[in-house]
Amino acid sequence: MNRTTILLPFLLLYGVGSSLTAQSDRTAIRAEDLREHISYLASDKLKGRESGKEGGHAAANYFAEQWLRLGLEPLSVLPDDRKQAIAKDYLLPFNVRRLECLNTAGLLAGTDPSLADQILVIGGHHDHAGVGGPGAMGSPGEIHNGADDNASGSSGVAELAEWFVAHPIRRPILFMTFSAEERGLLGSKAFVEDGPIPTENMYAMINCDMIGRSVNDYLYVGGLGTSEEFHPLLDDILKESGMDVEMGDAGEAPSDNTSFYHGGVPSLFFFTHIHEDYHMPGDDADKIQYDAEVKILELVRDCALALDARDASLNFVSAPGMAMPADFNQKMMEHFMAISERKRNRGKLGVSVEVEAEAAGLRISKVRSSSAAQAGGLQVDDTLLSIANTVLKSKDDLRRALGGKVKGDVIQVSYLRQGKEHATEVTLK
Ligand SMILES: [Zn+2]
Repeated sequence: MNRTTILLPFLLLYGVGSSLTAQSDRTAIRAEDLREHISYLASDKLKGRESGKEGGHAAANYFAEQWLRLGLEPLSVLPDDRKQAIAKDYLLPFNVRRLECLNTAGLLAGTDPSLADQILVIGGHHDHAGVGGPGAMGSPGEIHNGADDNASGSSGVAELAEWFVAHPIRRPILFMTFSAEERGLLGSKAFVEDGPIPTENMYAMINCDMIGRSVNDYLYVGGLGTSEEFHPLLDDILKESGMDVEMGDAGEAPSDNTSFYHGGVPSLFFFTHIHEDYHMPGDDADKIQYDAEVKILELVRDCALALDARDASLNFVSAPGMAMPADFNQKMMEHFMAISERKRNRGKLGVSVEVEAEAAGLRISKVRSSSAAQAGGLQVDDTLLSIANTVLKSKDDLRRALGGKVKGDVIQVSYLRQGKEHATEVTLK
């Protein structure tokens, strides 16, 4: 039996409950709220939010908590003995080989029952490249925080949810965050192909992926050719937004809207372009342009409102090709060249180490000749205790301590020699 046939009538009956009355008054799209979401999601604590790993799960749980807090309805049917949803009801698990990954979804009922089977999906992926995970382009051991990619978009979805809860539209809106995007759009694909909502009931999809680093108010909007009605309904809004909007018609993009497009859903892609920190450890929360992101989210909101003003469903149109900024390939090429330059420049210590059985620290088993370690006076059988304030207990710790360091960087090394602690400075080569 197909779950959707059971679930959909249930969803339509079950609107936003009385839990709304207890909500905070955070009903605007605000830079400080975005900063709060992104600072948590892109903190080292979440270790780059790799899908299927602890950090990825933590990000999913964070969004599940948001949907609960906002009083959205979960897509899962609550057990008989329970009337109130709890956070985990908003998690949609799927498997990538043997790895369990978690999408999240929360539904906001619409105000017009006759449009209840035309759900607008607004989503963005919450996973990222972890520590050397899928798509990671930094050095081994470095955490890829993914503030722009895509804490920015997924946090934006949460801010939009907050706004729409206070200002519901005629159609239901499903707010989603996807996992395993970085493994190949797998979370959105799983939802479109095996999720509880048939694609016929999806009015349109709006995907926010990397919307936090807008240079000179640049914004790319792709997928405008996937419905006959997108241009007529949205062109003026995009042109008058005050943003420098580049429009694209193609249905595919290197992001989750592609999965919905393949499912026959008219789908849009909002994106502020790649930059020097794309899939690099430097994609941090302090580099997000929060005020620009607010403007972009207000534009996404205005597009959603314009789409909802239409009475009929949208006509899907096949729009072959990849929706991308005109200079995307050139910028990507420059990015790859900068990364290989960074790799050539990587600062090396020049030791082999073994993990000490009992004591904390790493025993040096080999010092390469003319290496930085040799110049700094390190010897075989010294035990490395810390480098640049990173305590060394595993080879991963050592990789992390050296991650992102370049030739010529001076690092503080503390080590044990014959039971006595020493400190030295080493210039990496
Ligand atoms: Zn990415």
